[in-house]
Amino acid sequence: MVVDVHTHIGQLYGLYTIDEGQPITWEEILARLDTEGVDKAVLLPSGVSPEAITFPSLIYSPSMSVRDQFLGAARYPDRLIPFGDLDPRWLGNKPTADFRPLLGWFVDHGARGIGEITANIPADDERTINLFRQIGDMGLPVLIHNVGFGAGTYGLQDDPGMPRLERLLQEAPETAIIGHGQGFWSEIAAGLTAEEKMGYPKGPVAAEGALPRLLRTYPNLYGDISANSGFNALNRSPELGIGLLEELQDKMMFGTDHTFGRRDLKMPHLGWLKGLKAEGKLSAEAYEKIVGGNILRVLGPK
Ligand SMILES: [Zn+2]
Repeated sequence: MVVDVHTHIGQLYGLYTIDEGQPITWEEILARLDTEGVDKAVLLPSGVSPEAITFPSLIYSPSMSVRDQFLGAARYPDRLIPFGDLDPRWLGNKPTADFRPLLGWFVDHGARGIGEITANIPADDERTINLFRQIGDMGLPVLIHNVGFGAGTYGLQDDPGMPRLERLLQEAPETAIIGHGQGFWSEIAAGLTAEEKMGYPKGPVAAEGALPRLLRTYPNLYGDISANSGFNALNRSPELGIGLLEELQDKMMFGTDHTFGRRDLKMPHLGWLKGLKAEGKLSAEAYEKIVGGNILRVLGPK
């Protein structure tokens, strides 16, 4: 089964392509799954954190509340896998906030996970740890957007080398954390500058960085290969990237992060994985796990 671990509903505009944005509607997302040969998709509510609504290159215009995005996805149980979403600063902005009633509401209405977390606070902030422990207690995985420290972005913040994500993994060992975003995937290479961590570094990977190390070390960490962040990183040194897919075949997850409604614009990830399998560069076992097996294994109970 092919499962896209990272999809959204709503409307996102590039500031330089402000007239080109087309909303992603429910009809649109289901049609895209059919067109691209995807059986199911995880629907991640957008706009949960203020930093993810307005940021430098894009404007996100939530046409639906988080609640409506979540309940909307739950209407299509054969195709969409609803994730709840929240911000570690909700409920009083305290490291002791009790999110269990809210998490319980999400579970009662069909949530199989939480994300994507876009709050722009440190990955090892006590508020983050508090929320992530409670998510794990509910048996849910959580998908995060991860960035470096710096103005004008969204997602959990970390330093080069991901020491804060490492601490979060240790502090919430029962919580399956699915990493995503520039700050996560730039760490495929060692020796990052703080500036490189905020972006999409190009060129061959000279030495492996914190990303493969953490994926090997922590059973509760997974990698969502979606968006340009994942695709770019895995293709910087293709042999190394494909080697990591094969080696970490129990950890990597296919996703797209489609943020546009135009069906003629495809994300390359699934076609690339299919090609690798066809060319014998990726084993059939690894392919099956990456395109769906892994996420199905870590989803919360139905
Ligand atoms: Zn996303």
